[in-house]
Amino acid sequence: MSAAIEVEYGPFDVLVVGGGVMGCTTALFLARAGMRVAVMERDALCRAASGVNAGTLTLHMTRAALVPYAIRAWRMWMETDRWLGESVLATAAPGLSLAFTEAERDLLRTRAAARREYGARIDLLDRDAALAVEPGLNPTMLEAAFCTTDGFASAYLTGRAYRAALLAAGVQIFEQTPATRIERTNGHYRVHGTLDSGGAAASIRINATRLVMAGGVWLEPLLAMLDIRIPVKTLVNQLIVTERMPPVMRSVLSIANGLLSMKQFSNGTVLIGGGWQGVGDRALGPVETIPQNLIGNLRLAQHVIPALAKARVARIWLGLESETADAMPMIGPLPGLRDAWVIGCVHSGYTSGPYMGKLLAQTMLGETPELPLFDPGRLMTAAPELPHREQIP
Ligand SMILES: Cc1cc2nc3c(=O)[nH]c(=O)nc-3n(C[C@H](O)[C@H](O)[C@H](O)COP(=O)(O)OP(=O)(O)OC[C@H]3O[C@@H](n4cnc5c(N)ncnc54)[C@H](O)[C@@H]3O)c2cc1C
Repeated sequence: MSAAIEVEYGPFDVLVVGGGVMGCTTALFLARAGMRVAVMERDALCRAASGVNAGTLTLHMTRAALVPYAIRAWRMWMETDRWLGESVLATAAPGLSLAFTEAERDLLRTRAAARREYGARIDLLDRDAALAVEPGLNPTMLEAAFCTTDGFASAYLTGRAYRAALLAAGVQIFEQTPATRIERTNGHYRVHGTLDSGGAAASIRINATRLVMAGGVWLEPLLAMLDIRIPVKTLVNQLIVTERMPPVMRSVLSIANGLLSMKQFSNGTVLIGGGWQGVGDRALGPVETIPQNLIGNLRLAQHVIPALAKARVARIWLGLESETADAMPMIGPLPGLRDAWVIGCVHSGYTSGPYMGKLLAQTMLGETPELPLFDPGRLMTAAPELPHREQIP
């Protein structure tokens, strides 16, 4: 019988658990500031939400209070050559959010005003002005909110781009390595995990003086390893991509109620989403689509751009998005622990990801963050009460 392989790494200055856009950006800026950093990812980098999302970089769908963060992040996406090195094909395009009914028009105006208060440059366009921006629109539309800080990237390129940047910055990347347990010993965090390399599982321990938890929808079980209870909801978003077709739109389109987002990539495919839900959870992952929701999403898309009646669906997929109880992010030091931070649950988090990670890195480096963080302490719940001994059956 062969002995189990056990390997110990570190100590690192920082271990980031979770290699999505949040964890990778935090790791990158810390490493560039001179820290010895490791990233521990149970799959491959940016293969969960950060690699399967719709890639829309928009203020229309970002929560109003997050607009200042999203504006700064949008600029970062448009300048990846300056800080990331590799491209994710980020493309600026005008963003139109549409209203087809009186109720949607009211909603559109309220949402545009709320985002303007936080610095978004959003104008209201009447039907003719909107059709001048996007001639393929259904002319029954009433009004549109127009923003030039919009566009899209190819999310599936995110992992490739970050891997190159992290390696160049000297970050040690542990992929296919789920964290299973965390201990605190002698001022160090010791994170236990298993590394599956070609069928031979090794048990590994990574030591670090600082810990960043960046596990997306899996933050709830990850934080529980530190005895911190914060509920994290899982949204199971469906996406649809069409076969290539001649140009039918040149802007990023959404509707006021948020149920549609779509754009056409330069290769002619159209990506259609809008948060229509499928089946899945964080234990099983994305399981299956809900056909009625796909049909609803496609109908809406075709209503907005009638030329999509000729589109053929090439592929559909699902991804898991995280949300806190108040739908605002958790980014900051973990209460009651030294040198441990969390980052995640950012609505429209692909758009804001690079800036959020940079902000957390700034804080961890002892600098005053340019914009405020989001205290995770507000979300903590008490441990579930254990039954009294005499009540245990
Ligand atoms: C289908 C879909 C469409 C979306 N569309 C958009 C959009 O168009 N625009 C936009 O701005 N946002 C969009 N979002 C939201 C956006 O993708 C997310 O907010 C963002 O990617 C979250 O990044 P993250 O790093 O927090 O999480 P993730 O990318 O999920 O990363 C968390 C990582 O932690 C790892 N992990 C978990 N547990 C462990 C463990 N025990 N050990 C080690 N690693 C672990 C996971 O494998 C994962 O890689 C969409 C989301 C989905 C799902």
